[in-house]
Amino acid sequence: MKTKGRDDLPFVLHAQKNGERFLVEAKAVIDASGTWTNPNPVISEGVWTTEEQNLSKQVFYGIPDVLGKYKNRYSGKKVLVVGSGHSAINTLLELGELKERVQETEIVWVLRKSRLEDVYGGREQDQLAARGELGTRIQKLVESGKVKVMTPFHIQELKKDGEKIQVVGSLNSELAQIDAIDEIISNTGSRPDFSFLREVRVISDPGLESVLELAPLIDPNVHSCGTVRPHGENELRQPEKDFYIVGSKSYGRAPTFLMATGYEQVRSVVAALVGDREAAERVELELPETGVCSIKSSSCCEPEKSGAGVVNSDEVNSCCSPITKPVTSTSSCCS
Ligand SMILES: Cc1cc2nc3c(=O)[nH]c(=O)nc-3n(C[C@H](O)[C@H](O)[C@H](O)COP(=O)(O)OP(=O)(O)OC[C@H]3O[C@@H](n4cnc5c(N)ncnc54)[C@H](O)[C@@H]3O)c2cc1C
Repeated sequence: MKTKGRDDLPFVLHAQKNGERFLVEAKAVIDASGTWTNPNPVISEGVWTTEEQNLSKQVFYGIPDVLGKYKNRYSGKKVLVVGSGHSAINTLLELGELKERVQETEIVWVLRKSRLEDVYGGREQDQLAARGELGTRIQKLVESGKVKVMTPFHIQELKKDGEKIQVVGSLNSELAQIDAIDEIISNTGSRPDFSFLREVRVISDPGLESVLELAPLIDPNVHSCGTVRPHGENELRQPEKDFYIVGSKSYGRAPTFLMATGYEQVRSVVAALVGDREAAERVELELPETGVCSIKSSSCCEPEKSGAGVVNSDEVNSCCSPITKPVTSTSSCCS
C-alpha cells in the first residue's frame, strides 16, 4: 500500500523453474500472459457452477486437436460446441472433417447470437483472407446440414445424466434441453487473470477488463471493422510506474486482438523503457478490416455503418471522449 519511494523500488517476481521457486528483481515488468488460462464458463450468465466444475473431464475449454491428439475422444460422439467466435469456428470445422471420416459423429452448435450472418463476418470482403475464409467455410458446413445449429440459445444448467450430459437452457426464449451429450467444447472466450497482480497498481475497464485507455478503441459494442487506432506505451501506461499489460491480455474480454497489434505495443513499450521517447510515440499500425463495416473510417471517431447502411448514433463516438488518466501519487487528500 505504500506510496512514498515506490517508484524507486524494484518489482519482485515470484517464478518457478523445475519445481523450485525463485525471486527476480526487475526495473520494469511487461505482462504478456494472455487470457487462455482463464476461460469463461458455458453457463450463459458467466457464472461457474459446481455442476460445470464437476464435469471437467467432459468439457474442453479452448480448441482441442480434434483430428490428432483427441481424435478418439470425439470420434462417433455427440459433441456440443458452445460459442460464436473464431475459436468455435475452428473447432466446428475440424469436427466437420472428423464427421467426414466417422459419420456417427454428431455436432450440435449453440450460440447466443440471433443471426448466423453475424458469425460469418465479412467473408470475401475481409482484408485478412484467412479470417474471411473461416466465415465462408463455416457457412458451407452449416448449409451442408452436418451441424445442428441452435440459436439464440442461453445455457442455464448442465446436468450429469449417467455417462452423458444434459444441457438445459432457453432457445428463442423458450425452455429447451439437449440430451445425451458426450462431450462439450467451450469456446465462450476468456478473460485476463489479475489475481497475481494484487500488489501492483493496475486499472482495467469495468466492461471489457481491458487496459482502460484501449476500451473505447476496441469495444465490440461499437467497433466491428477490426481496425484500431495505433497505440503504444502512452495508452498502455498503468498507475504503477514501469508496469505494462500488453498483447491479448491488454484487450481484456474483447475478442478482436491480432498479433500485429501486440508486436507494435511491445516495440513502443520497450522503446520507452530504454529512454527512446521518439520511437515510443511513433506508433504505426494498420490492421486489416473485417469487411462488415460498409464505410471506411479514417479514424475511430468516425461512425461505422452497419451492413444495412444505417448509422446508429447511440453506438458511435465513445472513443472520442477524453480519458482521464488515473493519478498515481496523490500528495494531498484534498485533491
Ligand atoms: C486457431 C487460432 C488461430 C489464430 N490465428 C491468428 C492469426 O492468424 N493472426 C493473429 O494475429 N492472431 C491469431 N490468433 C490469435 C493469437 O494466437 C493470439 O491473439 C496471440 O497468441 C496472443 O498472444 P499473447 O502473447 O498476448 O498471449 P498468448 O499467446 O496466450 O501467450 C501468453 C503466454 O503467457 C504464459 N503465461 C500465462 N500466465 C503465466 C504466468 N502466470 N507466468 C508465466 N507465464 C504465463 C502462457 O503460458 C503463454 O505462453 C489465433 C488464435 C488461434 C487459437
